[in-house]
Amino acid sequence: MKRGLERMTLAFAEALKAAAEGEVPVGAAIFDGKGRLLACAHNRMESDRDPTAHAEILVLRAACARLQAGRLEGCEIYVSLEPCPMCAAAIGFARLRRLYFAAYDPKGGGVEHGARIFQQKSAFHCPEIYGGIGEGRGREILATFFRERRQEGPKAARETPARPQSARISVSSRPPHSDHEPS
Ligand SMILES: [Zn+2]
Repeated sequence: MKRGLERMTLAFAEALKAAAEGEVPVGAAIFDGKGRLLACAHNRMESDRDPTAHAEILVLRAACARLQAGRLEGCEIYVSLEPCPMCAAAIGFARLRRLYFAAYDPKGGGVEHGARIFQQKSAFHCPEIYGGIGEGRGREILATFFRERRQEGPKAARETPARPQSARISVSSRPPHSDHEPS
């Protein structure tokens, strides 16, 4: 999974850009079947005033625009955090071939937790799923962001708009199946 880790570093770099902008640090990258980078994106919910501006949604749109296509068959998406149910569903609609994500999100994730979108009968397309790729780094980026934000104190917290999604993200637990790879 060395190649996966190398590509995940792009998602991490995007997550750090999000953190620098005061966004919950989640980043994503999409590669085509030949290994060419199509697009990168990070969370922009606050700056776009858009609750759907998750890294995955933005990177899907950018990759589709680049290919002038409505589907991304044969492509791979790398995300620094387990996608939420909205993004997991969008990844299914886009027909991506593989989904790689780093940190698990027991509270907000929708792939290995919660809604488990790809395990539902309504999921007509299920990518190959590889969770926990660079998990330690993915968790560290989130933990650092929330620790620094807590240290900013109540004044900063008052001036910062509520971010319900961030409150649901937990970076502390690690499910027992975190190193699995589908056969
Ligand atoms: Zn999402």
